[in-house]
Amino acid sequence: MRLERADVVIAGAGPAGAILGALVARPERRVVLLHRSSAGSGVLAETVVGSAEPMFARLGLVPIVERLGFDGAARHGALWGAGEVFWRKLAPKERGYKLERVAFDAALRALAIERGVELVEGASARTPWRAPHVRVELDRERRAVDELSRSAVGGTELAFDARVVVAAAGRTMPESLVDGRVVRELPALIALNARVPDAGAFADATSIEAVPEGWWWWIPLAAGGASVTLFVDRDELAAKGRDAAWRSAREHALGPCRAAPAAFERGTTAAPRLVETGGDVLLAGDAASCVDPLSSQGVEKALASADHAARCVNALLEAKLDRELVLAHRRAWERGLFEAHARSTLAFYAAERRFERAPFWTKRHALANAAAAARAVALPERVRPNPELEPASVLVPSGDAFAAVPGRRVRGSDEAHAEFHTVPVDVLLACCDGGASLDEVLKRARRVPALATRTPAVVREALTSACRAGVVVRA
Ligand SMILES: Cc1cc2nc3c(=O)[nH]c(=O)nc-3n(C[C@H](O)[C@H](O)[C@H](O)COP(=O)(O)OP(=O)(O)OC[C@H]3O[C@@H](n4cnc5c(N)ncnc54)[C@H](O)[C@@H]3O)c2cc1C
Repeated sequence: MRLERADVVIAGAGPAGAILGALVARPERRVVLLHRSSAGSGVLAETVVGSAEPMFARLGLVPIVERLGFDGAARHGALWGAGEVFWRKLAPKERGYKLERVAFDAALRALAIERGVELVEGASARTPWRAPHVRVELDRERRAVDELSRSAVGGTELAFDARVVVAAAGRTMPESLVDGRVVRELPALIALNARVPDAGAFADATSIEAVPEGWWWWIPLAAGGASVTLFVDRDELAAKGRDAAWRSAREHALGPCRAAPAAFERGTTAAPRLVETGGDVLLAGDAASCVDPLSSQGVEKALASADHAARCVNALLEAKLDRELVLAHRRAWERGLFEAHARSTLAFYAAERRFERAPFWTKRHALANAAAAARAVALPERVRPNPELEPASVLVPSGDAFAAVPGRRVRGSDEAHAEFHTVPVDVLLACCDGGASLDEVLKRARRVPALATRTPAVVREALTSACRAGVVVRA
């Protein structure tokens, strides 16, 4: 087996891996992107919501999605919490995009190649999968890559000695490949998808609709027709059967998805989960965390994750910061994002109350209630700094990598804090030193010059967040 040297090896060339490659490519670096083609997400099209537009613009992707004709729909319908469709016209800035992923992903890989990334087609990363070594198995029939990239890899096996290894192999990546484990998850879904040949009056609309079995998602396709997907609970489906679930959900549909064909054509699992590893590998995109498809933000999140991972790669290559600090920062970023998504997803499920007794909804409502209760924990009457705090470095963006600033963390935790809602952590800790009520904290804060421009509401928010993070505790 040949051993090659590289600066960065990225396993997985979906949106996360491809854009990450494009972001870290430099003339003096060897960046290798391993591409094993995938069966896709199991749906014919995916939507990206309008809020992703600034990130698409920042990453230079707007011309690509416009060239591919992936403009978002002009209106959006929601049958959620009420028995009729609520239609909303979308201004051009709100429309986002309808992505047909084969073309979108290929365009991102082309961008990576254009920036100097070596794309290795038909390449599957195998164990061991952590810096410095990555072993790669090549498809026998893989097409020659020489035309597409500068790489000219021969044989059927290859190994890299890489300074940084990134796993961006998507939601189906076995955790064992990266010495990882699932640390948090939401109930898994099965997506059943079919094509509707004629989108009829809904060719200009996306729509979402809750039914007792789960929810429907309608996306018109660029070439005509529409993609219609039913999302159902994986465990419930195991008992009920896919055909029966599709039939009864179709009978319950009131909006565009009434046009769903009699049978679905393909099915796939969507399991929202957060994976962490203590190994010397960065996880990016769905490999790090998958969000519930209800958010329509999987691709946006994969790109944001890759953007953050790119800074981490740059920091590891610069080697000015402690390596473990950078890896821990990547984990903490992904954890924060997954938790925020989980909260908003559960709140959205909680807004549908018509099918309280249906198992799909009972399960999600119970989780939403538990999450809301945990979040609503009031500030204790008196608070004080957690005695388990220790000094820690907090990474803040600097150039295309990070700089370390001083902060605090609870001993043994990955999460270090320099401030809460712009209130410096040490100033906040000083305000509750020795134990203090909220009023006392606010009174002390008024006397601190560094907080002169912060309102009492901001200080209260900061204290609440510090409490949630365990940085201050009940006195
Ligand atoms: C049913 C369903 C519907 C969805 N709908 C939407 C939607 O409407 N909007 C939205 O934004 N998101 C949606 N998503 C989520 C979206 O598809 C993902 O979030 C997105 O694809 C993540 O990108 P990624 O690059 O992290 O992973 P992927 O796109 O999965 O790419 C990973 C790549 O790594 C490759 N790979 C795997 N193993 C290896 C290996 N060992 N070596 C090398 N390569 C490997 C895979 O073949 C694949 O090409 C949906 C997901 C599902 C399941």
